[in-house]
Amino acid sequence: MSKSFFNKFFRFFSLCLLLNSSISPARSSSALAAWSLNSNGVLELRTKSNSKLKAYFQKGGNTFGDRFWIDFPGELKNPRTIEGNGPIKEIRLGKPIKGKTRLVVEFSAKNYLKPLNWKLIGIDQNRWKIKLFSLPKNSFKKIGEGVVSKSTINLEANKKPINSRKRNYDFLRLPNIKRNKFYVVIDPGHGGQDPGAIGIGGLREADVVLDVSKRVKNLLTEKGVNVRLTRNNEVDLDLPLRVSVANRTDADLFVSIHANASRGKRRDINGLETFYYTGWRGRLLAKKIQRQILKVSPGSPDRGVRQGRFFVIKNTRMPAVLVEIGFLTGRLDARRLEKSIHRKRIAYAITKGILEYLSKAG
Ligand SMILES: [Zn+2]
Repeated sequence: MSKSFFNKFFRFFSLCLLLNSSISPARSSSALAAWSLNSNGVLELRTKSNSKLKAYFQKGGNTFGDRFWIDFPGELKNPRTIEGNGPIKEIRLGKPIKGKTRLVVEFSAKNYLKPLNWKLIGIDQNRWKIKLFSLPKNSFKKIGEGVVSKSTINLEANKKPINSRKRNYDFLRLPNIKRNKFYVVIDPGHGGQDPGAIGIGGLREADVVLDVSKRVKNLLTEKGVNVRLTRNNEVDLDLPLRVSVANRTDADLFVSIHANASRGKRRDINGLETFYYTGWRGRLLAKKIQRQILKVSPGSPDRGVRQGRFFVIKNTRMPAVLVEIGFLTGRLDARRLEKSIHRKRIAYAITKGILEYLSKAG
């Protein structure tokens, strides 16, 4: 059978690209630590922290059923097949290529899976879940290996006193810096006539980034940093004006906050990126911020620290970055960015990146 014949019948598509891995290449054992396919059709996973996963779907044919699989970094020691029950034929754990682990869920027939409804959710840095199918009660008995719920993160958070639980993002711990020493300009992108990107459900970039920017301002102010926002409300501000606010007042840092949209509004495109124009200071600031925002956005891909020629970072005289806090058109990012708890976490993360930079620079 020719390749093109296969292609007609096998519809592969990549579901999601997950968080960038900071695992060192030396540790090459499988990133999959535990998994469980529950009777309600939810697949739960525990992995090494910040693993990069890829999920795939293959529609069933005449001789085999629907298949869903996830590839994990690191090589599996013991490839194995676990017998299924109900509509699940079997679950296979293998190494498709050297250095990888693959978990395959194979159904006994086609049309169980409706991949368009799938959402792979990062519960925290090392746990994931995805609802694969719905079935009548008692038609499938849970299968799994290991304990999925064991969480290995938030060691700092566990130490915190109970009375501080209103801040469940406390694990970010903002560093202290010299008070009244630094002056930072925060630039919420767009505004006024210019809504910026329009995302799922009409979510507007100008609103999302203004909210995040105000929170960053408050957090920095609490830490003794002098902060100015280039816009405080729904006004349209020319780019040169944003730059001159920073240049005129001799700011130490300039941080422009934006959210992305993908061409064609593709819901499968999510991720975070931070731009600088030139110089190691801008790059360092970008790296610090990028690292922190990724921490509070599990499952959203790391698009990296990159050089960009955006007007506001090109023309400011101080270290300047432009941070894209997620895709308003992306299913995963948009669902988060519409929630104030996530915008709060993002603001915390940006603040932490800024403070880390200042504590080095100061
Ligand atoms: Zn923008």
